[in-house]
Order: sequence, then structure tokens, then C-alpha cells
Amino acid sequence: VPAPGIPIRFTYCYVSPAADGPIVLDPGADSPASRESLARALDQLGVTSVQGIVVTHFHIDHWPLAGWLSREYGGWVALSRTEHTWIAQLAPESLDDESRDRFRSWGVPEAEVEAILPTEDYGDGLGYASPDVLLDDGDPVPGAPHLQVLVTPGHSPGHLCLYDAERHVLFSGDHVLPRITPYVAQNPYGPANPLQEYLDSVVRLRQYAGAEVLPGHEYRFTGLLARLTQLEDAVAARRAEVRDVLTGSPRASIWAIARRLHWSRRWEDFTPQARRMALTETAAFRTQLMASGHS
Ligand SMILES: [Zn+2]
Repeated sequence: VPAPGIPIRFTYCYVSPAADGPIVLDPGADSPASRESLARALDQLGVTSVQGIVVTHFHIDHWPLAGWLSREYGGWVALSRTEHTWIAQLAPESLDDESRDRFRSWGVPEAEVEAILPTEDYGDGLGYASPDVLLDDGDPVPGAPHLQVLVTPGHSPGHLCLYDAERHVLFSGDHVLPRITPYVAQNPYGPANPLQEYLDSVVRLRQYAGAEVLPGHEYRFTGLLARLTQLEDAVAARRAEVRDVLTGSPRASIWAIARRLHWSRRWEDFTPQARRMALTETAAFRTQLMASGHS
């Protein structure tokens, strides 16, 4: 499903057959092109109605189309209970104030604070279809007992994966992608130590080693264990970089640390959104390092 205007360009939506109607995972971004593309694909599959829609996480390239899909094809909308509990705390009217306070405490210069406010990322999210079903870790998907819910926080506070034991397939959302290392943010009102939650969620997937992985982006793949090791290595390398800055400057602010890390482009060339993502990611690393005593 195309995601116009979003750097990732497209999201994989999956349809899993079940006795009382198909389950759709991650409908995608909402745009005329997205609707048309998904409608065409469902038509090719002979799908005229849907039993339920499961969303891996709140991001704009996964969830928004669920509202349209549910209206046009029927079906409940499900999120993890953890994701929903977090979203329910995001009050748009106080979000900007909360973010300003956070950014100032991170040493962000006053002139930058307004530019990097996250209104568009979280504010819009509150307007998506509200979930009808809340899923907990270990639950079967209602009406589709072959699909088991694995709550894998990290990339978002309540990200979920689905495991299909019949087909030995893991729907990994954005938790594990074949090439991209997922972005892990210190979210407003989110978990205290999101990077640790992400690392724990990575370890946990080792028990699904032989499964084929169907991710939210890029391409399907096998060799999950090797990929999990790569992700742990990538986190360890970044962690070492942050630790080195902190060792030299123990009181460095998030802003000061972020500016000294290596990024794929020059700091001056970052868009405000990219700058905010760099800061929230740096904060997640710093939190995890502090909590683990820099070990
Ligand atoms: Zn995504």
C-alpha cells in the first residue's frame, strides 16, 4: 500500500484467511492512492468483507487506513492494550507544552524548540479509528486462533507482532525489518526505558528462529536469528558511541550528545522532524546507558 509523502514510500498490508472471514494486518497510510491500491488487492483476492483489522503500532504508515477499511469492508479494529493505554494519555492540548519542557530539559536551544514540536506526529494519530478490540500478549486473534499476539514494545510503546504457527510465519511489523534498524524513541508519556524494552523484545523473538518473517517494509526474509544478532550489534555500536561521549562529558545534554554522534547526513541538513527523531533516539540511548550503569 503506497504511503505518499512518507519517506518509507509503502507499507505491506497482509491478509490472513480465517473461517469467519479474513484478518487484515496493517492497512497502511490513508490517501486516495492507498485506498485504491488496497481495494484493488482485496478484489484480486476475492475479499468483499473483513472479519477484523489488526494494527501493529500507531505510526502514520500503518494505522490510518483502518478507519476506511472498517467502514467499507466491515470488521473490528484491534491494537495492543499497551499501545492503546499509551495513546489514551496523549492529550493534544497539552502535548506541545509537554514537548517544550522536555526539549528544554534536553538542552535544545530556544530557537529550535518550536521548530521541532511533534504536533503532526502524535496529534493526527489521535484522530484515527479508535480500536474496538484490545489485544494482550499471548492472545489468539479473535476468530483466527492460528494467529498469536506477541507484544514487542520498543519501536512504539505497545508494538505487536503476530505469529502464525500453522504456516510458521512471523508478521513482524516494524519491530524487525531486513535492513533498516528500527527507530526507538523516548516518547512523551511513554515507557521510562524504551530501548531496554526494545532489546528485550529482540531477545524474545529468538524462539521463532525458523519462521519466515513478513515485515512492514522492505521484503520478506528467513534467517531471523542472524537478523536479530545484527540488530543487537547495531544497538551495541550506537550505545558505545553515546557512552564515549558521556565518558568524556558526563554532564552533556541530549542536544550536545546528539550533535556529536555520527548520522547519515550532516546535522545542519536535517529537517526539523529528523532532528527531533535524532534527539528522541539519543534520549532513549542515554536513558538505557544510565539505567545499566554504562555497562
Ligand atoms: Zn512503518
